Amino acid sequence: MSGMVRRGLSYLAAVGAVFAVAAALGLAAWALRIDRVETYLLIFVLLAGGIAWRLGRGPAVAATVAFALVSDYFFLQPRFGFGGWTSSDAVRLLTGVLAAAAVIQFVHVSRGRQILLEKRKEIDYQHFRLYRWDESAERLVLVKSVARAAPYASVDWYTVTLGLGEGITGVAAKTRRSLLVPDASQDPRMVYPAGTTPIEESVLSVPMVTQDRLFGVLTLARIGAASLRVEDLPVMESIAAQTALALANAEQYAEAEQTIKALTTIEALQSTDGVVPATEIEGRILQGFLDLSQADLATLRVLRGDGRYHLAASGGRFRPSDGAPADEPLTAAQVAWLADPKVPADIVDPRSDQKLPEWARRVRELAGVSASVYLPMRAGQRFVGFVGLDWRRPRWFRPEQLGRLQLLAAQAAIALDTRQALERERSRVEALAELEHERREFMQIASHELRTPLTVIRGYASLLEDGSLGSMPPMAQQALHTLMDKSSEMRVQVERMLLLARLEDGAAAPRMTKLDLRKVVNGALDRVDPQLRLRKGRLAVKLADAPLMVMGDSEQLASALDNLLQNAVKFSPGPPEIEVVGDRQDGRVRVVVRDHGVGIAREARSRLFEKFYRVSNPQLQNAAGTGIGLYLVRQVVEGLGGRVEVESQPGQGSAFEIELPVAQD
Ligand code: ADP
Repeated sequence: MSGMVRRGLSYLAAVGAVFAVAAALGLAAWALRIDRVETYLLIFVLLAGGIAWRLGRGPAVAATVAFALVSDYFFLQPRFGFGGWTSSDAVRLLTGVLAAAAVIQFVHVSRGRQILLEKRKEIDYQHFRLYRWDESAERLVLVKSVARAAPYASVDWYTVTLGLGEGITGVAAKTRRSLLVPDASQDPRMVYPAGTTPIEESVLSVPMVTQDRLFGVLTLARIGAASLRVEDLPVMESIAAQTALALANAEQYAEAEQTIKALTTIEALQSTDGVVPATEIEGRILQGFLDLSQADLATLRVLRGDGRYHLAASGGRFRPSDGAPADEPLTAAQVAWLADPKVPADIVDPRSDQKLPEWARRVRELAGVSASVYLPMRAGQRFVGFVGLDWRRPRWFRPEQLGRLQLLAAQAAIALDTRQALERERSRVEALAELEHERREFMQIASHELRTPLTVIRGYASLLEDGSLGSMPPMAQQALHTLMDKSSEMRVQVERMLLLARLEDGAAAPRMTKLDLRKVVNGALDRVDPQLRLRKGRLAVKLADAPLMVMGDSEQLASALDNLLQNAVKFSPGPPEIEVVGDRQDGRVRVVVRDHGVGIAREARSRLFEKFYRVSNPQLQNAAGTGIGLYLVRQVVEGLGGRVEVESQPGQGSAFEIELPVAQD
């Protein structure tokens, strides 16, 4: 009622002002003895502007109408009556009216802004709450609460999150329209944090929406019923719109910043090589998560060799008290919960989430946590561990934020997995080296132990053979030949094993002397002679007349030649026909052992000198061997700066050539 009266009064005042000014102008004209004051139109336009500023647009329009009538009656043609204008009078009046209209509109707009600004300063809230809309959790989360009165300050508002339609804030978010509740204590929709007694207050909630996207809700409250009014709404709405815009900008900035942070951490993880100790990688991972998430507490659990998830690192502003379980193993069900491949990240409210395992709930409770994210770390199919991030206050996450955390988790998993693989590999290599060492030691001892009795056996056999121990029947002699032959073979094998052990151990350096290779060749020929005779073979030897001096270990060279000659006999199906040549060519000493045996296929030739390599040849089923002979030949010859080569025609025979540098005087 009073509003209408006030409006009526302002119209009256406006029209009254016009008449007062008109009377003043008429009086002035009379006093000055002129027809009229020429600038009356300008004065009226200014008056309309003033009225619009003080009283509003309606009274100003009324004043304009009044002034048009007054002008017509008193001023156009001062004759005190309406109508009968000249066209120039009509144009003057119209111009005046239009000018007044323009001024009124301008004043109206500026005034509106001014009022808004003043009111904004004036809105006297006692509790301000800014809620953000968490798209993935579909909940409103309080991000800022400013309390200016005791009843608000004593409540922890952050503990409440709201779904759409929940609470006055939730209703405003759902309808996307502002909502004013004069007395929240009487409104069943109002949600207070648990244990709070309702406050007699006015609550105003305004949704923040930009481009159809719900950003959140601004909620204001003031103690006392009806203490906030409908008039406060436009101001709040404009604040909400601007806040939403500012938040959108800030979000974009934060987005860029966070991406850079994530990339920096990932880079730091990638540069980790085997040298970085395990704890440091884990520390880096944890720090990366803390930087990126701003979590109050972060824990990294890693699957170790014992199949349990150990606490590898934990940190943050806020550590759980000492009572919190630290290195507890997880049960299979707990791991399954975390490792569920369908869940890229688990966001939970630890106080209400039923799927949270007991152990996790306990940790959260001890630490007073109200928002957690679990990020499983998978390297391919392998579940490496997980990161738990906790916040004391409810938090909301944008999908991009979660995406970045997941990316980091994936990188961390790879870094951890790589390090574990490296560690496994290292211990495997160590075990292998140990095994290899034992094998060599055994070979050396075994061959050494065989050598001595063998020498004794061969000594007695040759005494028997040359008749020193009396004559023998022909049958026994034949058996003795075989005995000698086999013991020769055995000797070569034993020597080989000894040589191999020595070469590989690197412990015993070769005893280098200057020697005539012809002597070594002759010695080897003597040793192969029994076998050759047994097989009824033939031998053609062509050695240079001059000494063939080389630097080398005579035992090793002898063993190499033994191997070549033995092979020549062994791989000749019929009676062996062997040629041995020893000469000097272009400053190098050369020994060739040629046979007319089975020969070697082209494909096999390139691998012949590899350790344990043997050609599979059905023709030679009974040819025993270990595949280390030629390997030793090459090791010995190349060790002396020489080389060994093979030429062969399958079915026709092979020729092995050794070349060594001539020893200088
Ligand atoms: P092993 O004689 O103990 O088998 P080697 O290293 O001495 O080991 O020889 C490797 C393989 O090379 C032999 O298994 C054989 O097939 C082939 N080989 C070596 N010498 C000859 C040869 N003179 N004629 C044909 N094949 C040969």
